[in-house]
Amino acid sequence: MLLNIVQDFIPASNRNRPQYTLVPVYITIHETANTSTGANAAMHARYVKNPTTATSWHFTVDDRDTVYQHLPLTENGWHAGDGGSGTGNRQSIGIEICVNRDGNLDKATQNAITLTKSLMEQFKIPVNNVVPHKRWSGKNCPTNLLSKFDWFKSQLTNKQDKVEVTKPAPTPSKGANMTTGSIVTYLNSIGVDSSYTNRARLAGQHGISNYTGTAAHNTQLLGVLRDQGVKAPATPPKPKPKPVAKGNMTTGSIVTYLNSIGVDSSYGNRERLAKQHGINGYSGTANQNTRLLNILRNGGSTAAPSKKSTKPAVRAGEGIVSYMNRAGMDSSMANRKRLAQQHGISNYRGTAAQNSRLLTLISR
Ligand SMILES: [Zn+2]
Repeated sequence: MLLNIVQDFIPASNRNRPQYTLVPVYITIHETANTSTGANAAMHARYVKNPTTATSWHFTVDDRDTVYQHLPLTENGWHAGDGGSGTGNRQSIGIEICVNRDGNLDKATQNAITLTKSLMEQFKIPVNNVVPHKRWSGKNCPTNLLSKFDWFKSQLTNKQDKVEVTKPAPTPSKGANMTTGSIVTYLNSIGVDSSYTNRARLAGQHGISNYTGTAAHNTQLLGVLRDQGVKAPATPPKPKPKPVAKGNMTTGSIVTYLNSIGVDSSYGNRERLAKQHGINGYSGTANQNTRLLNILRNGGSTAAPSKKSTKPAVRAGEGIVSYMNRAGMDSSMANRKRLAQQHGISNYRGTAAQNSRLLTLISR
């Protein structure tokens, strides 16, 4: 059996492409539950790229030998319903089997078996780590396969069926001209996201300004990528609290200290820092300087106070703890309790409903 995988990735700018690093430990089997005529893999490939789609998964198979891949296998999707840091969402490859009434479900299931076997081999995933969606969230999915999931697993260990998956084919892109075709083909052939968004990113990275996807741009981009190679895809910034550099001296003046950490040590800036840290009437006395030095060494910010807070957007399926950690906030129960009270949520006990409400309030 030969399957052809078409990599048609969700645009990197979509909310349903969270770009958390995935190291696949499990494979999660789903059914689309969409029995409409025409609800095949190609249709789901279009659906999952829609900017308003909240869920995402890695592959969709139907009864044809073309499988659509929606996410790189180095990135997680939101398909398991077990939360933003759930094992299903963060450590499993998601496969959707189409159940469109004009398709052949047995053939689609066979294709899922072929694909799953190939992935098990690629990632050394044992058969017991091939699980139904139900395992993660209790959802009745994959509906048709649940009652015979043991049979499904037995097919995965059947060594007689030889698995061959072909190299990714070029992404069919809307309105593609010849040169777009070439750069898309090239990127797919080396396993790099060939979406417009990523091509624009690569163009910027390689000095092609104002990329709009013209033939000239694409030819130029193809040239530089072939010459220079493709740089690593951008990974989303993982916000971490930034420790203030402390310098490595134990004694010394405030001026020496500020210079050592690359901060403006002028009187004007020291005056600003003093005021920011509650030292009023700064006039540069030894006592004031020592106080300021101690505050800054103990983590006091040397940055100018920012006028507006920039809060990250809540990701689809994300829980409050994950969000707060990402936003650099203290996610402890005690702090959530404090915030809940502050936002008018009484008797906070950390229930799902309270967390959901609190998340909405603190992410505004
Ligand atoms: Zn499912």
